[in-house]
Amino acid sequence: MRYVIIGAGPAGVEAAFEIRRRDPDSDVTVVGAEPYPPYSRVLLSYLIAGMPMDRVYVWGRNVFRRLGAEHIMGVGVQGIDHSRNVVLLSDGGSVCFDRLLISSGASARASSVPGAELDGVTVLRSLADAKVILSCLGSAKAVLVVGGGFVSLKAAEALWATGKCVTVVVSSSQILSQGMSARAACVVQRSLEQKGIRFLLETDVSGFCGRRRVRSAVLSNGAEVECDLAVIGKGVTPSCGFLQNAGVEVRAGVVVDDRMATTREGVYAAGDVAETCDLARREPRVNALWPNAVEQARVAAANMAGDDAKYAGSISMNATRFAGLHVMSCGVTRPKDQDEAVGAFFGSGCYRELVFRQGRLIGSTQVGEVINAGALYWAVRNEAVGIERAGLVMSLPLSYGDAVSACGAARSIKGRTRARQGEQR
Ligand SMILES: Cc1cc2nc3c(=O)[nH]c(=O)nc-3n(C[C@H](O)[C@H](O)[C@H](O)COP(=O)(O)OP(=O)(O)OC[C@H]3O[C@@H](n4cnc5c(N)ncnc54)[C@H](O)[C@@H]3O)c2cc1C
Repeated sequence: MRYVIIGAGPAGVEAAFEIRRRDPDSDVTVVGAEPYPPYSRVLLSYLIAGMPMDRVYVWGRNVFRRLGAEHIMGVGVQGIDHSRNVVLLSDGGSVCFDRLLISSGASARASSVPGAELDGVTVLRSLADAKVILSCLGSAKAVLVVGGGFVSLKAAEALWATGKCVTVVVSSSQILSQGMSARAACVVQRSLEQKGIRFLLETDVSGFCGRRRVRSAVLSNGAEVECDLAVIGKGVTPSCGFLQNAGVEVRAGVVVDDRMATTREGVYAAGDVAETCDLARREPRVNALWPNAVEQARVAAANMAGDDAKYAGSISMNATRFAGLHVMSCGVTRPKDQDEAVGAFFGSGCYRELVFRQGRLIGSTQVGEVINAGALYWAVRNEAVGIERAGLVMSLPLSYGDAVSACGAARSIKGRTRARQGEQR
């Protein structure tokens, strides 16, 4: 059997491990556009803050050689020719496959404002981007970070740790607008401000100025901010441009079923490129996170090797630290009108919030002190019901046992509803 994996990120690496485990004598080829062995993007902000370069290679530099897989490095897939079952490469070559995994991840959204092409203006998605930032650190004094998401704030904090004067420009009225409520985000913002990071909310960059190198940014509110390095964090989009005319359905990401199979036979997808079922929202969504990528890849690889494995779905989840403050959020953190959000401040600078929809726990945020995170994650993922709201928010006594029985209650309610619907029919 010939397996081809497009992309050498965590999804691609995990799939190679799983295929090798299940089918030791097969041919495995990984085509990766980046000119490096696989590395961890999660560690890029730590690299900027001074972590040694070698530590980004979390699987070791020779992972594919150890697995007996071929790694075609620094070459992109440009298309798929299904009439011959081959992927077409950017260097003019091609590779035949019997089973194909699309794990091409996502790319950072580029800025189209005037001056975005100047030296010193970059995104932070790849090791190459991190190297650009590192090369600017010697001369840069003032850094502008554009965007208030998790990656932007990790970049801002890392740059602050190197002694730079950091300003973060956020177009919405709060930071982390996709990841938590305004009240929770306020706690995070305050702790970063106490370190000396400056925030400008409700404004955006309308252009960068400089001759060859960036010198300042002009904001939509008319202000001009000096900067000799700008890091743009405006989110990511799945890398699936090469799938045009490939017969694979793409919506927000590559459409897959619960076996991670695409609409084309023999072709699977996993990771940041794949659109799966969001269990909390109950709708298709790309939940672009490392653990989701790995779990999806394991299921896809099992099925590529002939098994019948199922992927239940994903939820969004972020667990990190900002300015020494522990932060964990999962599921729906920005409630809609029909949802009920219960939040409370406690201790010194801690905040906790839970979101319910029709009695189901669908989201949770903890800032400052994170406890019972695993049980909460499990409860959100499994649609826990019957959780006592106020007590939970204040003291969070939820154990795995509580979560399991609350999820059991959810399943029996669903079962009863289905049975009733059956009777009515
Ligand atoms: C700075 C940063 C911090 C992060 N922190 C966290 C965190 O704390 N927790 C968390 O869960 N997630 C985090 N993430 C997200 C996490 O890194 C991704 O979810 C994860 O890397 C997705 O893995 P993937 O294999 O699907 O895609 P990717 O890691 O994007 O890998 C895909 C690979 O495919 C390659 N590729 C693309 N197109 C082609 C093509 N046509 N041909 C060949 N190769 C191609 C790409 O170059 C890339 O190397 C972070 C991301 C960044 C950038």
